[in-house]
Formats: sequence, structure tokens, C-alpha cells
Amino acid sequence: MTDILLSEEIIDPSIEELALRHHVAYEPELWKDRGALLRRLADVRAVMVRNMTLVDRTFVEAAPNLKVVGRIGVGLDNLDLRALSERGIVVCYPPEENAVSVSEHVFAMLLSYARHIPQADHSVREGRWERSAFIGFELAGRTMGILGLGRIGFRVAVRARAFGMRVLAYDPYMVPQHPAVTETGTELAPLDRVLAEADVISCHLPLTDETRGLIDADKLALMKEPAILINTSRGGVIDEGALYHALRERKLGAALLDVRQEEPPPANHPLHALPQTLLTPHIASWTHESLRRVISTVAADVDRVLSGQPAQSYANFPSPGTPQGGL
Ligand code: NAD
Repeated sequence: MTDILLSEEIIDPSIEELALRHHVAYEPELWKDRGALLRRLADVRAVMVRNMTLVDRTFVEAAPNLKVVGRIGVGLDNLDLRALSERGIVVCYPPEENAVSVSEHVFAMLLSYARHIPQADHSVREGRWERSAFIGFELAGRTMGILGLGRIGFRVAVRARAFGMRVLAYDPYMVPQHPAVTETGTELAPLDRVLAEADVISCHLPLTDETRGLIDADKLALMKEPAILINTSRGGVIDEGALYHALRERKLGAALLDVRQEEPPPANHPLHALPQTLLTPHIASWTHESLRRVISTVAADVDRVLSGQPAQSYANFPSPGTPQGGL
């Protein structure tokens, strides 16, 4: 019997500590072979996954001894929570632990784009000292539009304000009395108004039936021509085909994408040929601090559940964001 199966790349000292008390199988490539994964589940009591392992009803049915799923990350769209909950399988995840890193990545991308950092670095390395080719723009005085004012969106609002930006947010599940609104001076507004007024739009939505493809050709057409669209949430929120056309026809200024509709995307994806894109491989939360917090929090919960204790962070009953803890 395997106590804990890790089907993706998950490395941390807390896993070594888990292995002192449980039988841990580390098979980081297993998510790629669906048949082998399903066969492997027969004698497994716990799985720890990132976002590449599809934990759907078939997965649940193939795992008769499964007690707990530890999700190393926040997006729950690769898990069938209903199927898991029906079987009484606990899903634990780290709700706050990567929010700071993701919000910092938003500004890493935005400032890199605004000040042409990748191109300027490349140019100096090539022996040039060009300055007029790299005239950038300031964030101060511009409007940040946040879609989804949850744990990450809240922290993006805090940082946008620190840069002197005005903040508008669309989140139909947020109330004006919430600290994410009152402590950041954010104005809640309907989606179309946020899209029309923002200079920078940053997506922090969960991928749900409501948000899949939310940013389509019609929504892209509402944005200001030089607007910058940033996505560090889930690729499925944006229609990439419509995005490509909006960028190519100069209806949109730029797209800064950490997440994609298909991950990894094909190497010859049309978006990769456009100079108005800045692309990273789903690394917004990949800092040493965040990885440490995320993995150790989930490992502790998996250990608790296997030892017959309650978990501390259940995902079985997700609710709209209630930011708390460190900013
Ligand atoms: P959260 O649950 O705290 O916040 C999500 C917010 O979106 C909530 O306030 C909710 O009310 C709002 N929302 C839900 N449905 C909406 C809708 N239809 N329209 C507008 N708003 C809606 O989640 P979070 O921790 O802020 O994370 C946001 C997303 O970021 C996650 O779901 C995950 O997919 C993604 N994420 C990506 C990375 C990365 O590495 N790129 C890391 C962590 C999280």
C-alpha cells in the first residue's frame, strides 16, 4: 500500500519529513501517462498534485482507498470537487500561501514590459548602448483594472496603489465593506466599465463555467487601444484566438501571459511571434518562499488527515475570496 503518491514535480524538505512517517512514492512524470496513473491509484491513500494531474470522477473511481488530495496551489479547476466530496475525500490546499508571489509577478511582468527590460538587456549583451529605442512609460497616474478581487487581486490592488495607480475592480461576489475594497481605495465597477477605463487589466479569476472564455472578442473590443492585458490566473479565461487578432490588428496594446489555454502551448503558437506579448511558463507563484509555504502547508494537512485528524485548509467547500494574513 502506498500512503502518498506525488504525481508531479514536488520537492521540499517537508516531503522528506512526510516520508519518515508514511510510504511516499515520488513519480513526477506520472501525470503525463493517464493509463499508468489510473492503474497506480488502486492502493493509494493520498495524492499530492499541482495543476497538471486531472483529478476527475474517473480518477476518483480508480482510487478506492483515497482519503485525501493535497493540491499544491490555488486553482482548483483540475479537481472534480463534487466527485471527491461525494466520496468524503478531503481536498486540502494553501489558500493564501502563494498570493504575494503571484501579485509580485504581475508587477515584474508589467514593469519589464513598460521599461523594455528583456529587449534592453539583450541589446547591451549584443554590445550596443541604445537608449532612445527603450523609452518606456510610468505606471503612476494610470488605471489598474482588476478582474477578481480575491486573495491575489487584493494584493495586486495594494501594489498598484503603491505605484500611484487608480484601481477599479470587477468582482460580483465582493461587497464594498470588504477590506480588499476599503483598505486599497479600490472602486468596484461593472465588467464593461473596468475594461473600458483601465490602462492595465489584470485577471485573477478562478476558471469556472462563468469565467471560461469571459474575455472574448466582444470584451477585447471594449478595451482601450493601448491597454495591457495581464493574465496570471488561468489561460481558459481568455479566448487566445480573439486575443491574437486584437493584438495583430492593434486593438490592444499588449498581452502579458503567465498562463495559457493549453499548457505547455505549442512552440509555434501564433502569439509567440507577436512583439506585443511577454510570456512566462506558469511561474507566477514559483518563488522559493511561496513553494516552501505551499508545499509544507499541504504536506502538514495530508499528514493530519492520514493520522485521523482534521485538515486545516479544506477546499471541499470553496467560497469567494476572503483575503487575510500578510500583505
Ligand atoms: P480567490 O478565490 O481568493 O479569488 C478569486 C476571486 O474571483 C474571488 O474574490 C471571487 O469572488 C472572484 N470571482 C469568482 N467568480 C467571478 C466572476 N465570474 N467574475 C468576477 N469575479 C469572480 O483566488 P486567488 O487566490 O486570488 O487566485 C485567483 C486565481 O489565480 C486562482 O483561481 C488560480 O487559478 C490562479 N493562480 C495562478 C497562479 C500562477 O502561478 N499563475 C498561482 C496561484 C493562483
